[in-house]
Amino acid sequence: MKRTKYFFTVALLLVGLTFPVHAELPGDVLFQVSTLDALLAGIYDGEMTYGELEEHGGFGLGTFNQLDGEMVALDGEFYQVKDDGAAYPVPDSARTPFAVVTFFEPDQELSVTGPVDYEGLKRALDDSLPTKNIFYALRIEGEFDYLKARSVPKQTKPYKPLSEVVVEQVEFEFDDVSGTLVGFRCPEYVKGINVAGYHLHFITEDRSAGGHVLEVRTGDVTVEIDETAHFFVSLPDDREFYAADFSRESYVE
Ligand SMILES: [Zn+2]
Repeated sequence: MKRTKYFFTVALLLVGLTFPVHAELPGDVLFQVSTLDALLAGIYDGEMTYGELEEHGGFGLGTFNQLDGEMVALDGEFYQVKDDGAAYPVPDSARTPFAVVTFFEPDQELSVTGPVDYEGLKRALDDSLPTKNIFYALRIEGEFDYLKARSVPKQTKPYKPLSEVVVEQVEFEFDDVSGTLVGFRCPEYVKGINVAGYHLHFITEDRSAGGHVLEVRTGDVTVEIDETAHFFVSLPDDREFYAADFSRESYVE
């Protein structure tokens, strides 16, 4: 097995400023593995294990090698929502090609009285943010009148780009469900590296099911917002990533 050198390029730039990240910037670093465009291009195998990832935060979202489902991290626990819709615990040895985590420390809390649909929820959040130009981690907890989530089937090589895989995505609908939305709002300028705007995953209160959120109509929910002004990207050190051509503009989810 090739030795991982994940902290390669970006770490060299940031190492003097932020290490040790936990000691100097507690909770305020968004830690990301690889880039969104790499995932969209079909680079579905990473070297970083979940054992390593959790050192950078126990709150966030992502996926697994071979694109084997949707990841939700909440309260330090990692869950894998496979294409059967069920949430499974993640072994430390599992690896990820794309993940975003942080140590969640809310700066702001607000209550949203439902019913509010996804667009309404985004507007309510946007209205309460001090700026759209930093990163936010979001924890939205409570009752949901309706929620539609998806997961993706595990892939085998040769990998298809994500735009073709999502055609096979499996969707799950929930009515009157309690749970938590976990995710981020990223600035527009981050396009290609992460999802610009909102990206939320869901996990039920009993931690039995969830997925990548497609539609939602909330009941009454509590929103916690963690303002995050530091962004750390750990780039893959592998042949596929080095060889990929990201000048194409076709990588659209
Ligand atoms: Zn997602």
